[in-house]
Amino acid sequence: MLTPFDDTPLPTPSPVWSFLWRNVGVVVFVAGAFVGMLFVYGYFRPSGEGELGLVTAVSDATTTSGAFVLPITKPVANRLVRQRFAPNTPPLSVGIIVGHRGNDSGAVCEDGLTELAINTTIAEKVFLLLTQAGIHTTLLDEFDDRLDQYEGTALVSIHADSCVYYGDDLTGFKVAGSSRTDSAVLVTCLNENYQRTTGLNIHENTITGHMTDYHAFRKIAEGTPAAIVETGFMYMDRVLLTTGSDASAQGIAGGILCFLESR
Ligand SMILES: [Zn+2]
Repeated sequence: MLTPFDDTPLPTPSPVWSFLWRNVGVVVFVAGAFVGMLFVYGYFRPSGEGELGLVTAVSDATTTSGAFVLPITKPVANRLVRQRFAPNTPPLSVGIIVGHRGNDSGAVCEDGLTELAINTTIAEKVFLLLTQAGIHTTLLDEFDDRLDQYEGTALVSIHADSCVYYGDDLTGFKVAGSSRTDSAVLVTCLNENYQRTTGLNIHENTITGHMTDYHAFRKIAEGTPAAIVETGFMYMDRVLLTTGSDASAQGIAGGILCFLESR
């Protein structure tokens, strides 16, 4: 029977529960951490049907000699990737027309000196100077087949003016640029350099339609700046054009290099 002072021991709780009860703080912390991790996993899991996201383990004995391969793919949104470097520019190449070569001798002096000889000497020196500067250079005939749709960084035709004596003022050089492709910088560079190395003045008022509407300007590809140089008058500037042709060539090569640097 029960008495108010019944001292039969109360049923003791199972040791597991008493352990948990005694460490309730730790239990709450572990449970909270578990819920938190579940939340983090659910929130950051890659959106996809795969139970493990996009992480897959593949064992392919044929290609990897039995080793485990774990390709990990990460979904990345499509977006525009801007090119970090400018597209490659084509290598520099310059065409030099040896005036009248392959066609006729051009102007001829009374003693037999031909414009072709003058043009050839100067053009070959220009070729050497440009090649030494590392520029791919091509010497072309007056009516060279390669002029059709010629594409280059620049094209320069070398000519000399008449050997007829019309007066002491027929001295000087001139440069005319193509009207089809902007060649203003090339013309400016040639004018400045030629004037400096030869000491000749520009003889502007004898620039003819033959120069501005030069046949090669119409043949070459659009986008190739081009100019024709009349290096001097064969009568009054004969010394410069023959024994002084180094200065002539330096002026033209320097003008072309000045143009190439401007690009
Ligand atoms: Zn000519």
